[in-house]
Amino acid sequence: MSLPRKDLFEMPEGLIYLDGNSLGPLPRSVAARVASAITDEWGQQLIRGWNVSGWMAQPSRIGDRVGKLIGAPEGSVVMGDTLSIKVFQALSAALAMRPDRRVIVSDTGNFPSDIYMAEGLVALKDAGYTLRLAPPEDVADHIDEHVAAVMLTEVDYRTGRKHDMNALTKAAQDAGAVMVWDLAHSAGAVEIDLAASNAEFAVGCTYKYLNGGPGAPAFIYVRPDLADDVQPALSGWLGHDAPFAFEPSYRPAPGIERMRVGTPPVLQMVALDAALDVWDTTTMAEVRAASIALCDLFITEVEARCPALKLVSPRDGSVRGSQVSFAFQNGYAAMQALIDKGVIGDFRAPDVMRFGFTPLYIDEGDVRAAAAIIEDVVTNDLWNRPEYLAPKRVT
Ligand SMILES: *Cc1c(COP(=O)(O)O)cnc(C)c1O
Repeated sequence: MSLPRKDLFEMPEGLIYLDGNSLGPLPRSVAARVASAITDEWGQQLIRGWNVSGWMAQPSRIGDRVGKLIGAPEGSVVMGDTLSIKVFQALSAALAMRPDRRVIVSDTGNFPSDIYMAEGLVALKDAGYTLRLAPPEDVADHIDEHVAAVMLTEVDYRTGRKHDMNALTKAAQDAGAVMVWDLAHSAGAVEIDLAASNAEFAVGCTYKYLNGGPGAPAFIYVRPDLADDVQPALSGWLGHDAPFAFEPSYRPAPGIERMRVGTPPVLQMVALDAALDVWDTTTMAEVRAASIALCDLFITEVEARCPALKLVSPRDGSVRGSQVSFAFQNGYAAMQALIDKGVIGDFRAPDVMRFGFTPLYIDEGDVRAAAAIIEDVVTNDLWNRPEYLAPKRVT
């Protein structure tokens, strides 16, 4: 099947959407499926829906669908909660595997929530843990025999720089540490072979490149040989071996099910399940090749038209995710002006204009048209208006 597949998505007329890295657009199949889940399942089946419509099995059934896109074997991925919660779960389980070590390594480019969750876990454990933040370029040099866990996000949310998953996993494991990967900007964007990486844990969200919708559930992967032993710190009833036995004390379920916590967000799961059908029409390899080509073209076009914008993403597509970022002093206001002109990207402090490319619904024509509008905004100072300069709550 050739790309793009614009027919599979709702997209307002005249919009060039370069923010699928923050919130993927609405796949056409989703609305009817969610409406049916509300009307036919919730409305008619009521509580029977848990069994009749398989609501209770959603987290692992949909986990297997996500697993296929990240190189994870069946039964190794489960859905639920938010990514921040999944980061906490994976990291706490990783620390429990190395009880005599007290250092967590991450990098300064990691998404703040991952760092914040690690800080919260360190404070909660109150056992002398420290969080060591290395520059992204030389994380490996900061991994030593004191390190319990290395927690990294493969693709940097700001710059799009992509870590070498296999090499860093090996570096962590050679030092005796446990590896936790955050695939938030990888799942649905780049090819991943989790099984081949040998990493112990991986987590990610599904509202970015997997188009699951705002608030879509996150995923967690545990390497299959460890899944019966990891300790779930968030020991909710749906991770219990027998939730409906209502036993007085927690006993973890076998395998990946123990990483479930509480009641799944059924309607969000239905939306995600429908959104994943898009992936039955293409392959990650096809999407990745097209994404690199679109990003390369965007860099060439923008650099030729707007010398004031400085590329902060890697020029080499093989070490870049599916986004391109440019630094521009008036980046916030410029992005507001662009959004007003129908080119939606986003802004990340202090000065980064970020553009995500998703070959499922973006083509070369969109890239050239967006570059021309960026040129207009930047060279004619169209950003310099009070309504563009005033910051909004969500950037
Ligand atoms: C998007 C993103 C998050 C967001 O976490 P939520 O709990 O889903 O809000 C966390 N970490 C990384 C690396 C992200 O890119």
